[in-house]
Amino acid sequence: IRDNVAITEMPEGLQGEGFFATNLEQVVGLARKNSLWPLPFATSCCGIEFMATMGSHYDLSRFGSERLGFTPRQCDLLMVMGTIAKKMAPVLRQVYLQMAEPRWVLAVGACASSGGIFDTYSVLQGIDQVIPVDVYVPGCPPRPEAILDGFIRIQDLVHNESLRRRNSEHYTALLGSYGIQ
Ligand code: SF4
Repeated sequence: IRDNVAITEMPEGLQGEGFFATNLEQVVGLARKNSLWPLPFATSCCGIEFMATMGSHYDLSRFGSERLGFTPRQCDLLMVMGTIAKKMAPVLRQVYLQMAEPRWVLAVGACASSGGIFDTYSVLQGIDQVIPVDVYVPGCPPRPEAILDGFIRIQDLVHNESLRRRNSEHYTALLGSYGIQ
């Protein structure tokens, strides 16, 4: 009880002297968004911008993500950077499926988002044809500031989605339409 008002009647997130009211999902979201473990799936030039993003000047670790992972089972953010050939699509999809839920996907640059300048038979015209994408970062290549902006947008999603399941059958069917198993 404070100021004759029961805590249970106070709105969520209300701060006061000596107490803070919230719910467990908000706490989990806050912790999770500030401790994302990215898996960089870099196949070409956009990957170079990612290296700059990880460097001391732009410093992605400020957002709690200095720990990159190359084991899908340990990561919760898949960052796809570069041109994805159709032959690479099953590999990308396999990596995505090996990540545990909840998981998020950031498409970095024009190639990952839409095939970019490579409007040709051998290049996937956007990774969202084989896996779900949460945020698209435009640019060829996007500057590190744009990659950071995309990352922050992912953090906003993470904060508000502590648990999510996706139906991946839709993407399996799309992959099959390319004749790829
Ligand atoms: Fe290279 Fe541009 Fe494609 Fe990025 S979007 S991988 S910079 S061609």
